Amino acid sequence: MPLIRERDSKRLHIKSKLMGESLVGKGFLKSLEYGPQFRALPDVNILKIGGQSITDMGARAVLPIIQEIVENMPKHKMVISTGGGTRSRHVYAIAMELGMPTGIIATLGQSVSEQNALMISTLLNPYGGIKIGHDDIPKLAAYLNQGCIPVIHGMPPYGYWEHPPEEGRLPPNRTDVGAFLLSEVTGAKQCIFIKDVDGLYADNPKVNSSAEFIPKIGAKELIERDLEDLVVERMVLVSLLNSNNTREIQIINGTVEGNITRALNGEHVGTIIYKDN
Ligand code: ADP
Ligand code: MG
Repeated sequence: MPLIRERDSKRLHIKSKLMGESLVGKGFLKSLEYGPQFRALPDVNILKIGGQSITDMGARAVLPIIQEIVENMPKHKMVISTGGGTRSRHVYAIAMELGMPTGIIATLGQSVSEQNALMISTLLNPYGGIKIGHDDIPKLAAYLNQGCIPVIHGMPPYGYWEHPPEEGRLPPNRTDVGAFLLSEVTGAKQCIFIKDVDGLYADNPKVNSSAEFIPKIGAKELIERDLEDLVVERMVLVSLLNSNNTREIQIINGTVEGNITRALNGEHVGTIIYKDN
C-alpha cells in the first residue's frame, strides 16, 4: 500500500477507497461496493428464551422447553439467548424513580439476563450446555462442533453507551434485539423467539382476547401499522430492515409442545416477520 502525502496539510494517508473520507457522505456510502456478507454459522439456529414470557413461569414452562431443545440436539445446532423478565422490570422501575440515565438502566438489565443464562445453561449442563460470554462469540463454532449447546445472555453490550430512546428512558435495545443481532453477525440459519403467545396479534392478546392474529407480516408494514403494543421490541423491526443475513424472524409459542421442533424444522408455526424493503 503506497503512502500519500496531502499537499496542503501534509497529512500522510494510506491509499485505499476510504482514504480521506468522512465515512458519512451519502453519495460516498452509496458508491461503495460490498461483496455478499460472510456467514460464519449458516447451519445454526438462534433460539431466544423469553424472560418474562418463559423463564419467569418457572419449571412448568422451562423444563419442557429444555427437554424439547435436548431432543432436537441430534438434528439441529442451536445457540440459546436469554431474556430478562420481571426482575429487569423491577430494577428498571427503581432506577427510573431514582432518575437513572438510559445507560445505567441498560447496564442493570444485563445482569438480569445473565442470571437467566446461568439457570438455563445449568439445566442444559448434563447435555453439553455451556454458558458463554459475549467475547466468546468467535468460539461458537468450536463449542458447537464438540456437541455443546452454548447459552448467552441476550442483552446487547451497549451498556453505558445504550442509545437514548425516542420516548422515555428505557433502553430501546434489549434482549430481543440482542438475539436478532447475534443471528445477523453469525449469519445463522434461523432466528426464533420462544414466547408464551402464538405470535403477533393486532393487539396484546392478554388484554384483548379478540385481537386478530397476524401469521406473517413485513417489518416495514408492521412499523407503518404503528400498533399500540408489540410482541417483540420495536428496534428488532428497524434492525431487520437494515439486515443483510437475517431476513426473517419467527415468534412461536413455546408453551405448546412440539412448536420448537416444528420451527427448527423450518415450519411456520407462529408469526414470521420478514424484511420487506
Ligand atoms: P419476552 O419475555 O420474550 O421478552 P415479553 O413479555 O416482553 O416477552 O413480550 C411478549 C408479550 O408481549 C406477550 O406475552 C404478550 O402479552 C405481549 N404483547 C403485547 N402486544 C402484543 C401483540 N401485538 N401481539 C402479541 N403479543 C403481544
Ligand atoms: Mg420482552
